[in-house]
Amino acid sequence: MSRFLVKGLQNLESYTPGHQPQNHDFIKLNTNENPYPPCPSVEKKVSEKVNSLHLYCDNSTKELTKTFAKYKNISEKNILFANGSDEILAFSFLAFCEKETGVCFPEISYGFYEVFSGLFQVPFEKIPLNDDLSIDPTTYFQKGKTIIIANPNAPTGLCLTLDEIETILQNNLDHVVIIDEAYVDFGGNSAEILTKTYDNLLITGTFSKSRNLAGARLGYALGHEDLISDLNKIKYSFNPYNVNTLTQTLGVASIQEEEYFNNCTEKIVNTREYFKKSLEKVGFTVLNSKANFLFLRHQNHSGEKMMQYLLEHHILVRHFLNPKINDFLRISIGTEEDMEKVLKTMKEMVK
Ligand SMILES: *Cc1c(COP(=O)(O)O)cnc(C)c1O
Repeated sequence: MSRFLVKGLQNLESYTPGHQPQNHDFIKLNTNENPYPPCPSVEKKVSEKVNSLHLYCDNSTKELTKTFAKYKNISEKNILFANGSDEILAFSFLAFCEKETGVCFPEISYGFYEVFSGLFQVPFEKIPLNDDLSIDPTTYFQKGKTIIIANPNAPTGLCLTLDEIETILQNNLDHVVIIDEAYVDFGGNSAEILTKTYDNLLITGTFSKSRNLAGARLGYALGHEDLISDLNKIKYSFNPYNVNTLTQTLGVASIQEEEYFNNCTEKIVNTREYFKKSLEKVGFTVLNSKANFLFLRHQNHSGEKMMQYLLEHHILVRHFLNPKINDFLRISIGTEEDMEKVLKTMKEMVK
């Protein structure tokens, strides 16, 4: 730390990303990436755009927004794209989180919520989960502050129903409720439909997980046009060119190649269910995940030891130090072939 860092940030705990080895000696199941490459047409489409990189990108992301609006059957005014959904979340902290009242989120959830609270100096409250790690919607009633909930939640993969989300919205009509749908395409129910009724609902989503584009950085917000307009105000005060030309092209291609998207998500969901059943047969407890990862433990083996064992066998998974979940591993769903290898290793591990 230099002598010059502002006081408010001297104790900031920044986000620790999962390990990103740049060699390919590992089966990499630690950051919930999609194991399949981007849709087939992207190489051609991107190479056609490379020649225009001397120009700034379209700051209104016109074509991308139009294509997504048509796909979702909503108005362009209800959509904003950004440089990953992390950036949407950052904009939302600036736009919707008052320093007097603050923000709340589940005690176990996506680590960035707490990091952003620190960065933007917004007080936060962590709301306890039920003993089975699910979320009790009633614990979010009348909070008097901004709410952020990942649905499916991470790293549990557990979902709230739309009815439960609706009760949270009804009980917080004067505050924004952000539902982070990073994993919704793997079997959750999107709250999209509720944006038509509730002007306090903001949905965030990403092309990083279900659309095979983590490296391109593309995320979006869906919500009432006034919320989107507020987010635009932040965007145009921060970085109007936040989604680069190549990424906009990739996004359009991904939406247009719907069949490829559907095939990839279906494969991942099928692999997840097969992997879950197989692990349960050999004594693992596996939560009912609707995401592209499983959250699991084994009564005879600590999370730390299992993580270490898998690492020695060139399999990268995520382990968390929080004592409430330190016996769990979060394992992203890879290709069928990779998951067979992982299954074999895990069976040997508990034998
Ligand atoms: C991966 C993830 C994000 C971030 O996605 P990007 O679009 O890659 O920034 C947001 N929320 C949750 C819960 C995630 O797991």
